[in-house]
Amino acid sequence: MPKGQKSCHEVTDYANFLEKSKYEFLKTWQKKRTPKYNLEDYDIMKTLGSGSFGHVVLARLKSKGSYHAIKILKKEKIIKLKQVQHALNEKQILQTIRFAFIVYLEQCLKDNSNIYFVMPFIIGGEMFRHLRIMGKFDENLSKFYAAQVILALEYLHYLDLVYRDLKPENILIDQKGNLKIADLGFCKYVPERTWTLCGTPDYIAPEIILCKGYGKSVDWWSFGVLLFEMVAGYTPFYSPNNQMGIYEKIVAAKYRIPTLSAVM
Ligand code: ADP
Ligand code: MG
Repeated sequence: MPKGQKSCHEVTDYANFLEKSKYEFLKTWQKKRTPKYNLEDYDIMKTLGSGSFGHVVLARLKSKGSYHAIKILKKEKIIKLKQVQHALNEKQILQTIRFAFIVYLEQCLKDNSNIYFVMPFIIGGEMFRHLRIMGKFDENLSKFYAAQVILALEYLHYLDLVYRDLKPENILIDQKGNLKIADLGFCKYVPERTWTLCGTPDYIAPEIILCKGYGKSVDWWSFGVLLFEMVAGYTPFYSPNNQMGIYEKIVAAKYRIPTLSAVM
């Protein structure tokens, strides 16, 4: 068989895998889960990261000594910022999906003030940090990461989920060097089209900015931006301190390909 061509077995195995994943996803979508551990069962150790609606802490399960990342969402803030539906989506999707390159929810806890998403702790930190330290990735590393992101997006899209916030801050690296996509805060079940304006300016697709209604294509746009950033070290529509400038460049598809010497 010619090099690089897939055998029909490989193709059907992949198609079967996706089909089986969809079946499992639909079967467990509405399933009620009872948490196995309480908040008192964890020692909170340090903050791992923070975002717009809360923060993520490293926690140790006292009885087992295992490490976990707990995303803490403040109920008051979620309501104030009208993010209730996004938080519910994030919980339901995180607890239902199971894929090698995406984080998942071990359990969800709550008290009067907060909601707690308990997830496995991904030790290597954000791709963002590695990219800033290294400046840019070489082509082989970029291809390796890109392949894993493609598989993760194909999995989500097969389940009719649009991710909507692909960027190096939301991609974690595990102890073996593989990726885990985190932060499903904007992920949504979209069998057809949706209209909400969300995402991060540099990575947003033109159809979102133009309020045209959009679907899974927006993730492939962000994937292109991510791939550019991994190889070049900066995003294609970068415009310092000027969000409108970014949007104008995106809508006009105005970007410059760096010279070969700049990416070597
Ligand atoms: P936000 O919605 O506030 O952006 P994220 O889910 O992106 O929240 O989490 C914020 C940061 O916390 C991430 O960028 C990452 O640095 C860290 N983080 C999140 N989940 C994990 C995890 N499972 N393991 C390790 N670090 C994590
Ligand atoms: Mg995030």
